[in-house]
Amino acid sequence: MAENTEHSSDFVREMVARDLHSNKHGGKVVSRFPPEPNGYLHIGHAKSIHLNFGLAREFGGVCHLRMDDTNPTTESLEYVSAIQRDVRWLGFEWGDKMFYASDYYPKLYAYAEKLITLGRAYVCHQTEEQMSAGRGTVVEPGTPSPWRDRSPDENLALFRKMARGEFAEGEAVLRAKIDLASPNLKMRDPNIYRIKKAHHYRQGDRWCVYPLYDFAHCLSDAIEGITHSICTMEFENARELYDWVLRAAECDEGYPYLPEQTEFARLNLTYTVLSKRKLIELVEGGHVKGWDDPRLPTLAGLRRRGVTPEALRAFCHRIGVAKTLSTVEIALFEHHVREDLSPRSPRVLAVLKPLRVVIENWPAGEVETLDAPYWPHDIPKEGSRPVPFSGELFIDRDDFMEEPVKGFFRLSPGREVRLRHGYIIKCERVVKGADGEVTELRCSYDPSSRSAATGGRKVDGTIQWVSAAHALDAEVRLYDRLFAVEAPGADGRDFKLDLNPESLSVVRAKVEPSLASAKADDRFQFERVGFFVVDADTRDGAPVFNRTVSLKDAWTRAVTRAAAEAPSAPAKAPKEAAKAPREPARAVELDATAQAFKDAHGVSADEARLLTADEGLRGLFEAALARGAKAKAAASFLSNEVVGELRARKLTTAPFGGDAVAELLALVDESVLASKGARDVLGELFAHGGSPRAIVEAKGWRQVTDTSAIEAAVDEVLAKNADAVGRFKAGNANVLGALVGMAIKATGGKGNPKLVTELVKKKLA
Ligand code: ATP
Ligand code: MG
Repeated sequence: MAENTEHSSDFVREMVARDLHSNKHGGKVVSRFPPEPNGYLHIGHAKSIHLNFGLAREFGGVCHLRMDDTNPTTESLEYVSAIQRDVRWLGFEWGDKMFYASDYYPKLYAYAEKLITLGRAYVCHQTEEQMSAGRGTVVEPGTPSPWRDRSPDENLALFRKMARGEFAEGEAVLRAKIDLASPNLKMRDPNIYRIKKAHHYRQGDRWCVYPLYDFAHCLSDAIEGITHSICTMEFENARELYDWVLRAAECDEGYPYLPEQTEFARLNLTYTVLSKRKLIELVEGGHVKGWDDPRLPTLAGLRRRGVTPEALRAFCHRIGVAKTLSTVEIALFEHHVREDLSPRSPRVLAVLKPLRVVIENWPAGEVETLDAPYWPHDIPKEGSRPVPFSGELFIDRDDFMEEPVKGFFRLSPGREVRLRHGYIIKCERVVKGADGEVTELRCSYDPSSRSAATGGRKVDGTIQWVSAAHALDAEVRLYDRLFAVEAPGADGRDFKLDLNPESLSVVRAKVEPSLASAKADDRFQFERVGFFVVDADTRDGAPVFNRTVSLKDAWTRAVTRAAAEAPSAPAKAPKEAAKAPREPARAVELDATAQAFKDAHGVSADEARLLTADEGLRGLFEAALARGAKAKAAASFLSNEVVGELRARKLTTAPFGGDAVAELLALVDESVLASKGARDVLGELFAHGGSPRAIVEAKGWRQVTDTSAIEAAVDEVLAKNADAVGRFKAGNANVLGALVGMAIKATGGKGNPKLVTELVKKKLA
């Protein structure tokens, strides 16, 4: 499947493009993915990997893989190897840029001593309770520790004593000396070093003191020359401390810039937990069978379940990157998995709940070999396999009803059904056991009805089957959602209470004989059932299959249904209908105000939630609408760009209003500005106010739509990057994004991205 390598336009990419444009970091993009090796990676990490490695790829930079290993008690080599394997599997490569924060301990320690010498850190002996009481509250300033004003010399001697192991754990910590009245509680003399007398998986027993995240992370970034340090929203409050440490420690690692932190919203998924602590609890508590249990959202689990890296990347591309917290429906992920698997999974026959069928008019002992194509008509692939047809078959129990309900078009007494690739059969008689259960169907077949390209007679239903004498026994593991409710552990209850007791059922199935040669990781679609992958537990002739995903696509169905019901309204995010959740939906439900707003303006749920929660944003939205802006464009611009740009600023004091927003959106609409230009103008509006049109003219930011000017830039970039062009021609589609990025940069960031992309593609063709 063609992968979308075009630039997504999100606020992070736009920021990076702007920074490249202004030469902020000397024209470099150095990002990093910094997992702590205390667990396996999950689908939320995939979002972060896709973003960090994607940025490097698209903007011609590099992305480091860094183990953020500053906590000796939870980390291990097993986790390091698992993380490396999973990042590679996802399709990303760090080359020689593999780093460990633990390698920086000597440097970090030296920076701590420097802070002490400069009077910017002190050793404190308060207990944890005393410290947190002394921190004050949002409305009251903190109270100083009695140790706050010791001299640098005294502190230095004490810190060295800590480092030599002469204090017990908890007897002393190193605190930054910042501001006990800061409105940001993170700035009220946070701990930066603590004593831990534990064995570190790489450093052994060399160290008795370990740096805390807020101290170690920014300095590690600076040591590696990271330009863009991207993390999730929980760290927003920590950004001020990040900047403080770098400046207070007078950090100088030889780069002409310091790293900068930017936050984006973490991925949350319905029916899923993504906190490592909870995943560890599930693994260690035996609720699942290890980190690669196919029910887990870990990358190892998803891989074993049969999900491909391509499907994960397509999903990450689709959900994009924003600051607004939202919960993505698991059905959307499953939709991408199906889209990806369909063209790569040959169709085969398998019967999960076998019911014996005897064809009474079949010539005794005869076996006919049918030539069955692997692919349906709409997938342009060749290939078929022989499938034996005989007088005794298995069909699925669910494809028979003794007393058919209305709308049931499969087999029932006196009725006909077509056997896929084979004949039409008619149920003549039902055989039952002593308990009244149906044990066998006696049928007849129509010898003239064999299905072939030329057709044959049509009946309402077609079902799968296997020949009883030839079928292979297979173990089939049917996975369902690990949790029975949309928001496991909501309202503070134990998330384990929400586990779905039926998340795994194992059945003994009958599958067609061609599957005897299936090897681990081979993928198939069992016709009418779902997508399956061969599990590593498979032994010679005894295949084990995992269900990756069933065939029903709740996402597509609901989107289509919503569109059909209300042709003018936007498609609603569907609620998975397959399993009735035991609890009402919470995390993704809108309140009445937001729902009314969404219905009135046709905007997304996230936008409605955000705009109704903030008076300033809502006011801007309404003012922009009154000036003629379109609702959808205005909602999207406000929730992404304006919210992205807000950061520490306040909307209430911003020197512009809805009229400026409307004018700016009109400029985008008229193609005078691309999204990057719109952001630049927005930056100006926040700084000085004014008229967007006047700003564009004064700054010369009108985007270039003149093809010859763009062409010159594209030619120049292609000529300078012959090796990248070579790689593209050799089949590496990923370099396209980087070339487009460079070409946009060569137009001074003003080239219309769509035109640039088209031209680059044309020239490479
Ligand atoms: P915990 O689950 O205990 O909070 P963590 O998920 O932060 O741990 P890390 O190993 O520190 O675990 O994560 C590495 C990187 O992945 C971090 O930069 C983090 O922001 C990012 N990340 C973690 N979870 C998600 C998520 N759900 N969505 C997007 N990014 C994530
Ligand atoms: Mg973390």
